[in-house]
Order: sequence, then structure tokens, then C-alpha cells
Amino acid sequence: MNSAKEIWEAALGEIQLQVSKSNYSTWFKGTEGLAYDGDKFLVGVPNTFISEYLEKSQRSLIEKTLIGLIHRGVSVRFQIKWAQEDCSDSKIENRRNNSALYGFNPRYTFDNFVIGAGNRMAHAAAVGAAKRSSEQNYNPLFIYSNPGLGKTHLVQAIGHKALENNLRPVYVSGEQFTNEFVAALRERRTEEFRAKYRSADILIVDDIHFIGGKEATEESFFHTFNDLHNAGRQIVITSDRPPKSMPLLQERLRSRFEWGLAVDIQPPDFESRLAILQSKAEQTQTKVSPDVLDMMAQEIKQNIRELEGKLNRVIAYARLLRAHITPELAVKALRDVASTRSALPEAPNSPQGVIGLVADVFDLTADDLLGRGRDKETAQARQVAMYVMRRQSNSSLSDIGIAFGGRNASTVSYACEKIAQDIAGSHILRRKVEEIQKKLLP
Ligand code: ADP
Ligand code: MG
Repeated sequence: MNSAKEIWEAALGEIQLQVSKSNYSTWFKGTEGLAYDGDKFLVGVPNTFISEYLEKSQRSLIEKTLIGLIHRGVSVRFQIKWAQEDCSDSKIENRRNNSALYGFNPRYTFDNFVIGAGNRMAHAAAVGAAKRSSEQNYNPLFIYSNPGLGKTHLVQAIGHKALENNLRPVYVSGEQFTNEFVAALRERRTEEFRAKYRSADILIVDDIHFIGGKEATEESFFHTFNDLHNAGRQIVITSDRPPKSMPLLQERLRSRFEWGLAVDIQPPDFESRLAILQSKAEQTQTKVSPDVLDMMAQEIKQNIRELEGKLNRVIAYARLLRAHITPELAVKALRDVASTRSALPEAPNSPQGVIGLVADVFDLTADDLLGRGRDKETAQARQVAMYVMRRQSNSSLSDIGIAFGGRNASTVSYACEKIAQDIAGSHILRRKVEEIQKKLLP
């Protein structure tokens, strides 16, 4: 069999026989085989929601199916398919698929990295490492910081850049390196393991602290390091602390790390935080008013991942309500996360509001609706709440699923259909639903 596309089509044929029809059409339809390099298989999916679901719940089925078709081990990765206009440029498309095969997040590029006082040095050193123009580079480059400050982003940007410069990057986390090493020992494939890492023009090891104290892995890494270093290849390492405070690491490895340059990343100042928020909002193509960004940048100081996570939450919340993102809405979105499931908040149209209202009418509690109870009353009330949300705001099925504690889009879809049918057959139910809808703002 040949192309990724064909292999995937065959795999879909098999998968279709193994999962339910609705499951198939919710999760597998619209997926596509993008690339296959004899080892990793890249599947294009329409959105993150589907990607996360497949990753979490269907990975083993998919891998098993692929192995059945190509008769060798394969590891699957999922990638969001690019918008149509991007695809017209097949060179860019190839590069992107390519970099995803290497394990790089397409967002983690230098272009998307906001430079500020806290990371200027690290950024400059990273740009240098990606060129590997000659001896003038620091080798190894060792980047350390607290979590969530951009280490992974920066070193993956090196990887993207390296590919553009026709250099071969190998990116691995300390954890993955350890796992692969152990598997190679077990399966007597240490030669293959050695070859993979020694083929790198640039070796990037993210979160090296993970291997500290794992003696055999450290030993193996020590040799890999020496071979690459002697061959003049660039090595880039990240860690949550500087080399000298890695007590578990063997002395000889620690001293190697001090040969090159160790730079830290400090938490961003206010201006950088604001710039990061602006850039993230732009990337999601959402209008967020400047006072909202300002407010968030003032409050969240220590962790960019958290900053980004909260912004995403505010955006998702506004989408669910079909509302503009104002400071009031942002405060509420963030508060609703913190204080879970308060009975009936002021905004009756918020997801929590709808759930509270439905619970009242059905003589249940919000916790019943959000819980996993399956008795008929509770199940119906839950479905009504999903139905009302869908009608009221035309929120996406997946957003509603998320509001109900991470239920599947297909569950929500089924609920909406079921209630539409039940209403047609029952006066009482229809009256209840109308009562709820009347209490919601138009
Ligand atoms: P670390 O590896 O240090 O824990 P990450 O690289 O995973 O941190 O960064 C966390 C999140 O913050 C990522 O989504 C990343 O894109 C974002 N981020 C961090 N620093 C910056 C920056 N300077 N500009 C833009 N985004 C950033
Ligand atoms: Mg990281």
C-alpha cells in the first residue's frame, strides 16, 4: 500500500465496522491521512475537540487498525487540518506536515513568540542555535525556567527553523527519551535507538530533569551527548532549574551542561503579558476588548500557560453565550470556573443559569444534572438543559458537552433530537420546556 491518504481510507473502512454509526460520523468523518514516514502516521482532523477525543479514547483502536494494514508498529499523531486557503500552497502544507511529524506544535514558532525583558536572552540564543552557522554557537544551549514560561515553545521554534534551514532536528522530552531507551533495551533495539539520536543535526531535549536519577538513561544520554558534541552538532536542553541545582544528575553530565550557555527565562512584565494576550486573541480571530486584556494581564503574572488558558476560557464562555467579551463577562467566566456550580447566578442565560433553572423546574439540583445519574427523571432533565442551551444560543454541540463536564458532542446531539421528539408527544414536557425558555432572556 502506498500513500498516507490511501492507507487511512482503508483504515476508515475497517473502523467503520467497529464503532457505532453515530460515533463514526461524529469523530471519524472528515479525517484524512496526511503523512506517513514508516514510523509515525499523521491524521488530519477538523478541530481540536475531535483531536483530543481521538487522542484520548480511540488511539489504540486506530493504531491497531493501522498495524493490521501496514504490518508494522506505528504511532499515530493528530493534527488540525489547515484552512482551505492555506492548503493551496502545497510547499507550506508540506513543511507543516513535516514539522508535525517531527513532533512540533505548529503554533510554537519564532513568529508567534513575543519577546520581552524576561526572555530576550533566551530568544536570541535560540535563534542562534537554529542557524548552527558554525562554532560561534554556544553548545549546549541550556534554557531553564519555572513552568509555563515558554521553554517548550522556544525550543520547538528552533526545530521549525532548523527544518526550514534543511537541518535535521530531533526533538524529545526527557520522559520520552527515558521511555524509548527502556523500550529499546527490552526489545533489543538499542542500535536503532542510538542511530536515531545520532542522526540529529540539532538534538533538542525538553525537560531534561526527568532523567535525573535514572542512571542507565543518564549514561545513555551522556554518550549521545558526547558523540553529537564531538561531531559539532547543536544540542539544546531545557529544564525547570539550572544545571547546578540538579542534585540527581551525575556530576559528569552536569558539568557537560555547563560547557555551553545556560540562560533562564523570567516571568513576563506587564507589557509582555499584554502583548502575549493580544497575539493569542488575534490567533483565535476573536475580538476581545482592550480593557479585558488589560485586566487579565494585571491579574495573571507568573505563568503564561495560565494566562492563555484563562483567555481561552473567556472566549469559549462568550461563544457559548453568543455575547461580546466585556470585562464583566470575563470576570464572570473566570469566577464561574472558580466557584463551581453556584445555584443560580445573576445571568440566567449562562450555562450555569440554564442548568440551575432546569434543575428548579424539575425539582432536582444542578449537581444532579451535571452528575452521572441515569434515572429517567435526571436523564430527561439533563437532556432538556442541553436542548434549551442549543436552542437558546445555538452553541456548538461540543461547547455544550464541555459545559456538562466534558460529555461528547454526540451525546448532546442525541439529547436535542430526543427532546424535540418527546415534546411533540407530551404536553407536560412541552409546558416545562416553555416555562424554562420564558425565564431566559431573549
Ligand atoms: P514551558 O515549556 O516553559 O512550561 P511552554 O513553552 O509550554 O512553557 O509555554 C506555555 C504556553 O505559553 C504555550 O502555549 C506558549 O505558546 C505560551 N508562551 C510562552 N511564552 C510565550 C511568548 N513569549 N510568546 C507567546 N507565547 C508564549
Ligand atoms: Mg515545557
